[in-house]
Amino acid sequence: MSAVPVENVDELQAFGDAIAGCTRCRLSQGRTQVVFGSGNPHADLMFVGEAPGFHEDKQGLPFVGQAGKLLDKLLEQIGMSRNDVFVANVLKCRPPGNRDPQPDEIEACESHLFRQIELIEPMVVATLGNFATKLLSGRPTGITRVHGQEQQTTLGGRSVMLYPLYHPAAALYTPSMLAVLAEDFARLPGLLGRSLEPAPPPEPKLELVAATEQLGLF
Ligand code: URA
Repeated sequence: MSAVPVENVDELQAFGDAIAGCTRCRLSQGRTQVVFGSGNPHADLMFVGEAPGFHEDKQGLPFVGQAGKLLDKLLEQIGMSRNDVFVANVLKCRPPGNRDPQPDEIEACESHLFRQIELIEPMVVATLGNFATKLLSGRPTGITRVHGQEQQTTLGGRSVMLYPLYHPAAALYTPSMLAVLAEDFARLPGLLGRSLEPAPPPEPKLELVAATEQLGLF
């Protein structure tokens, strides 16, 4: 487990409390509760799914339905459990009828996820399915093309390994996809043991560049 500062753990809890009443998008009207995420705040491995479903909305916890049971089984196969990882979603509130997240809902909610990543400081972020993969990679390439291919990126100002995986719900009823998901999962312990290049320094803000140019500093 990473040496996440103790303040981050308190802040994560406080952040969860602070967004429990979020009304940034229309999904606040139909939800039972915000599903913040759960697991180990010191986790080196974080999973990001799509959005809460019926059971998650009722219980207030991510991945507690059939897809969650599969996630537990896959974790067990690599010698891990929910206590070792943190699990969250792109959207914190259930879309009606489990429809796809809409672009404006993702936009309204994404800073919640980015803040979680900043506070948890995971080494590997495994994205489950298309929505999490596209959001966190910043690329439109779909999961079928990128699953199982780790890519180093910067999230929350730190280097992380992004690792796209098929969504367990999609793999539930497609044995060939489940086999691929299990194979991709089996590489996770190896990825957790890797060291990452440090994150590049942040780009200077445009206004700052303009100001220093005016001063003739470049
Ligand atoms: N599917 C998701 O993407 N997230 C959950 O929390 C449950 C099912």
